[in-house]
Amino acid sequence: MRIVQKFGGTSVGSVERIQNVAKRVKTWTDNGHEVAVVVSAMSGETNRLTGLIQQIDSNANRREQDVILSSGEQVSMALLSIALHTLGVKSESFFGWQAGVQTDDAHTKARILNIDSKKVIDALTEKKVAVIAGFQGITEKGSVSTLGRGGSDTSAVALSIALDADECQIYTDVDGVYSTDPRVVPEARRLPYILFEEMLEMASLGSKVLQIRSVELACKYEVPLRVLSSLTPIQENLSLEKLGGTLIIPESKMKTMTKTMEDPKISGIAFNRDEAQIKVNAVPDSPGIAYKILSAISDCNIEVDMIVQNTSNNDLADFTFTVNRSDYARAMEITKKTSPIISADNVIGNDKIVKISLVGVGMRSHAGIASKMFQILAQENINILIISTSEIKISVGIDEENLEKAVKALHQAFELEKDNISEEN
Ligand code: ASP
Ligand code: MG
Repeated sequence: MRIVQKFGGTSVGSVERIQNVAKRVKTWTDNGHEVAVVVSAMSGETNRLTGLIQQIDSNANRREQDVILSSGEQVSMALLSIALHTLGVKSESFFGWQAGVQTDDAHTKARILNIDSKKVIDALTEKKVAVIAGFQGITEKGSVSTLGRGGSDTSAVALSIALDADECQIYTDVDGVYSTDPRVVPEARRLPYILFEEMLEMASLGSKVLQIRSVELACKYEVPLRVLSSLTPIQENLSLEKLGGTLIIPESKMKTMTKTMEDPKISGIAFNRDEAQIKVNAVPDSPGIAYKILSAISDCNIEVDMIVQNTSNNDLADFTFTVNRSDYARAMEITKKTSPIISADNVIGNDKIVKISLVGVGMRSHAGIASKMFQILAQENINILIISTSEIKISVGIDEENLEKAVKALHQAFELEKDNISEEN
């Protein structure tokens, strides 16, 4: 097999850990696999570099910022290559540009346009491990670029596509994707499989395991993606079946893997602690109101998340929406300015709300998931402030103080601690 393995900052956070990564990579080459490794900067390094830039100019030229930011990965790639050499594994390190990663010129948040992987393929053909700096590429003008924070996940997926790899393995400090955050629910279960669509929802709803962009890319090209821990003991005899982690796959593959897919079960509960709600009370129920409220917000580049409008019988409506907490103060200020223009009665804010979401493709074909969710919350005496749904998720906004209680109760009620998919088949 040809495999791309990505090791994040924690996995290469010290010399010992880098040596450990080298040992792990060796088990794959010893078993005859071709391996391209994508590395992040050592943990904390990109933050440190950002800090240095900030000390001089928080608005520094972005091309120069990229020259600095890309240096962290440069260190990891060569340290890993050296560590591999000490184990007798042939390897060669590659800058993004050497690996042919061409990007647009949106410095500090560049997008990959194309990968000319010839040099990397040559190395693999010569039975060398190719160690590639994640997070960086090169613009058409020949300047180094970076892909935005967490970008080496995207580097790994893009390289997997370019190299036509059989699997892209993302090694991190957790051993997979869980039914919910185990810090909140200790019974949370590692999901052996999850669908791309579900993973996208989980990622955008607050699960921080993978950069969303990388999941989108993997989904588009159907690259099998596996999340694994780099901190678990290294297997003496490498066995693909016993690898563990979470495999993220397209729906077509899932159907052949499990018979229990039809179960009305949801896959996971994601939550986001950083929501804030703004409610515009008693506005005339007439065309253009939603537009006036929300265009003022989006003009200031503030993203709106959930939106609800409800009318009462006196031709007045209440309009409620949520934003990220960091945008709350500004969004309140803007909405208070809009309020007299649309003859609203008043504006009330609450920056202590959280969003909890049930995610699962099973809800497409099963009614009753939402009502069960609301029933559980009612039993716990938790008030729902706002609701939003999509085909495969139901989200509610509730008071921050109820977060733990709600997630625990929902996890139990939907039996997420139980193994609904057999890992062995
Ligand atoms: N080193 C970069 C960061 O910390 C890229 C990455 O780790 O994915 O954001
Ligand atoms: Mg990362």
